[in-house]
Amino acid sequence: MSKKINNDESCSEKNHLNSGSCLCGKITFAVKAFLPLVGHCHCTMCQKFHGAAFSTFVEVKQQDLQWLSGEKLLTSYRAENNSVRKFCSCCGSSLVFESTFNRTENTLEISLAAFDRFAQDDSSNEIIPSPDAHLYVASKVKWLTINDGLPQFKAYRDNN
Ligand SMILES: [Zn+2]
Ligand SMILES: [Zn+2]
Repeated sequence: MSKKINNDESCSEKNHLNSGSCLCGKITFAVKAFLPLVGHCHCTMCQKFHGAAFSTFVEVKQQDLQWLSGEKLLTSYRAENNSVRKFCSCCGSSLVFESTFNRTENTLEISLAAFDRFAQDDSSNEIIPSPDAHLYVASKVKWLTINDGLPQFKAYRDNN
């Protein structure tokens, strides 16, 4: 094999950005910093949209998200409650969630699983956002048992 492998360890430059992509790879993005809220959301809309038991979103400031490629492929779905979900029109990957609350705060939520790399600390260890709660567990799927010890809220964080 003549192809050279670009090894992260040989690269002395620290990675300052968190970056991710959709399934087909046409949409790529970078995020400068994460806000501390990272929830596993068990609402019915997240279940249907992700085709999964729950979604995991990390909150970021709008200005900290930069689309690197494929932004034109983003398609939006607006639900009855005026929340907007953005996904890749080629592969269907769910990337962004925006509630009316997010819009007033100029924040967004991004699917944590869409990230490929995380920013590194001074010892080159990735700084991985860690989920802090289960939300909307009132609509949790019946075939999942939550046993990770994180706080569980029937609805959103502060209205249990
Ligand atoms: Zn895609
Ligand atoms: Zn949800």
